[in-house]
Amino acid sequence: MDINTRIYNFSAGPAMIPEPVLERAREELLSLGGIGMSVMEISHRSSHFERVLNHAEQGIRDLLDVPGNYRILFLQGGATLQFEMVPMNFLRPGQFAEYVITGAWGTKAQSEAKRCGDARVAFTTKDSGFTSAPTQDALRFSPDAAFVHYTSNETIEGVEFKYDLDAGGVPVVCDACSNILSKPIGVEKYAIVYAGAQKNIGPSGVTVVIIRDDMIERVPEGQFPMLDYRVLAKNNSMLNTPNTWGIYMVGLVCDWLKEQGGLAAMKQTNEEKAAILYNAIDSSDGYYRGHAERASRSVMNVTFRLPNEDLEKRFCDEATLLGMDGLAGHRSVGGIRASIYNAFPKAGVEHLVEFMSEFAQKNG
Ligand code: PMP
Repeated sequence: MDINTRIYNFSAGPAMIPEPVLERAREELLSLGGIGMSVMEISHRSSHFERVLNHAEQGIRDLLDVPGNYRILFLQGGATLQFEMVPMNFLRPGQFAEYVITGAWGTKAQSEAKRCGDARVAFTTKDSGFTSAPTQDALRFSPDAAFVHYTSNETIEGVEFKYDLDAGGVPVVCDACSNILSKPIGVEKYAIVYAGAQKNIGPSGVTVVIIRDDMIERVPEGQFPMLDYRVLAKNNSMLNTPNTWGIYMVGLVCDWLKEQGGLAAMKQTNEEKAAILYNAIDSSDGYYRGHAERASRSVMNVTFRLPNEDLEKRFCDEATLLGMDGLAGHRSVGGIRASIYNAFPKAGVEHLVEFMSEFAQKNG
């Protein structure tokens, strides 16, 4: 194989980046727009970088139709730091927050929030093995909650909400790590939407936080500045040196998404890709068993099991030999997980489905 040959990478993240984006980054790597310096070599305070930052921000704003009363921040520390910053800033003594838990990441978010204060579980699907997301009707929130937190797509279990959760006026905070930019959402329904970039937005090391102005105003005085949304927003994500390379890549990914027709077009393509895989699971006479209930199946992370773990291991090994990597499920749950984010090509899904059919025939 040529050393530059690319394979089908089903990794849950960091995940595939659109090839035209990688190519453009390569073209511009030594000299960004003819300035004689790489984006990795310029000061974050320079006008060159100001353009890069504005471009990335505008890209996210345009794609998600982010209203003017929201700030878009590019932070570090991953979504995991948001698990901590959200309660540090918004769960004050005497208050409580409510968490909707549909998988491992929501579980982690709530357990981190408990360090700060009264982080309650408003709803969980733990007892049924995190196989579904609740309908809006099944959810009840206290009007006095400081905020409601949920995970719009549970990356490990492959369980996705198909709607923007409404908490009846209580600020909604959404961990959208693994489905942001995969479809249009109503940002105006949220107080905060956050996501690590490494699945659908760009490389790891940059976290996009979309936060409504009135939430910023609520931040109490006296926080550590690096953990204070108000200070970070006031400094335009540059309280310290930001991830300049990561932010540059976010801008390029946004350009690519716009060229694809934006998020409505991505939604359609993504649903088509997912349907190919789920159909293969459903028409396998039970050889492949999907983890999530149909109504909650993730369009981004397709999770399924084979008859036993030996076969699952063989499945992954043989797939790797055929140029398909990253199919092993998360170490905590096992099974198979095919992550098919925006940049993952339909041809790769077709390749996997063909292999699944042959594998089932051979090992059924
Ligand atoms: N939330 C979700 C839904 C995730 O998928 C992940 C990462 N896989 C995280 C949070 C943690 O993100 P990070 O590694 O950027 O801290």
